[in-house]
Amino acid sequence: MKGVFLILNAGSSSLKFAVHEAGSPVTPPLLRGKISGLGTTPVFSAQDNSGADIDPGALAALEPDSNHETLIADLLPWLASRIRGQPLVAVGHRVVHGGQHFDAPVLISPEVLRQLDTFVPLAPLHQPHNLAAIRAVAKWQPAIPQIACFDTSFHRSQNRLAELFALPRDLTNAGVVRYGFHGLSYEYIASILPDHLGERASGRMIVAHLGNGSSICALKDRKSAATSMGFTALDGLMMGCRCGTLDPGVILYLMQAKGMTAPVIEALLYTQSGLLGVSGISNDMHVLQDSDSPHAKEAIDLYCYRAACGLAGLLPSIGGLDGIVFTAGIGENSALVRRLICGHLSWLGISLNDDANDRNATAIGSTQSKVPVLVLPTNEEVIVARACHALLPDGRAQRPQEQYENTAQIDTGQ
Ligand code: AMP
Repeated sequence: MKGVFLILNAGSSSLKFAVHEAGSPVTPPLLRGKISGLGTTPVFSAQDNSGADIDPGALAALEPDSNHETLIADLLPWLASRIRGQPLVAVGHRVVHGGQHFDAPVLISPEVLRQLDTFVPLAPLHQPHNLAAIRAVAKWQPAIPQIACFDTSFHRSQNRLAELFALPRDLTNAGVVRYGFHGLSYEYIASILPDHLGERASGRMIVAHLGNGSSICALKDRKSAATSMGFTALDGLMMGCRCGTLDPGVILYLMQAKGMTAPVIEALLYTQSGLLGVSGISNDMHVLQDSDSPHAKEAIDLYCYRAACGLAGLLPSIGGLDGIVFTAGIGENSALVRRLICGHLSWLGISLNDDANDRNATAIGSTQSKVPVLVLPTNEEVIVARACHALLPDGRAQRPQEQYENTAQIDTGQ
């Protein structure tokens, strides 16, 4: 073995990780796992390549309310002990925002990191955690090359009209456009679609990434034609604690009539809205499904209605529909959510096989459904591992100085 790639995916409520063999076409991970419940009660779990649980050791009892920085600092030595004897070739990161100019994975240099810092206001819930992970690795192993893969990159193929806001042109030219997110998840689903749909995979597909963050992407030729998230990851569908699409007049009202400041409104829209805000109970779909509260039911109903509206709203970008895929935590696991969303879409000729849907089967469309409906688990870490392999194909790390020379040529356009 030529060593391993470590993949880190530092999200808003979870920290996912995977270890992949370097220097060969990407095979299943040697191990993968996650710390979920960040900000509340962190829970660690990891599996080896046979799917067997790995002993968490010291990570069995994580401090409540631990932040990303402390968790990463705890996780790195644990990972190092698991990959003992296999040189660490590079660390790949999911980074939410790459702006307009990072349209492909890059080796991270101090200059690249500085550019990525400038996108923090565009993704305040995610970008700081992604960058904290990069800095933690740099502190831990300064000589290890690090690679950033961007959630925005996959959407650079969006239709021009799908990218534009109806704002004055100088704002568009200054980069106030719809970037779109969850690109690594969509890229993974696009890569496996032919395994499930054959030639139909290149048709007009809708992929619904429904997790704590939720969005929808319309694919044609397995490329992004349009997506529901916009300038920030706040737009589009209702989410765990984000509001999704909102009349901008509401924000003006909150500022002018209610005297709310920008930081207060930011916290409201990013952390107190969505399922949490409407239910008043939780941002967690599983918890809401188990609740008897009418507010929990209304939150789920609104989530599904808005998701169906978002899905239907993307159809003009691809001119029709050849299939639907549900993915991510809610999309992969909630039969109720899939049933409610597809119920709103029955006029499109979509119907589910209830038994298959209840089992979270891969193909859940009924025999009468006009298009196939699939449930496909996403795997953003595999896309990052593939990027590590593409940038370091012989599995050997470049010296950091060479790495910095390469990336210094990137025109970030800032
Ligand atoms: P993600 O952000 O992709 O990790 O997804 C997290 C969301 O998936 C949370 O709202 C969870 O409650 C939800 N989820 C996970 N498993 C289930 C399940 N079995 N039923 C309903 N929701 C679930």
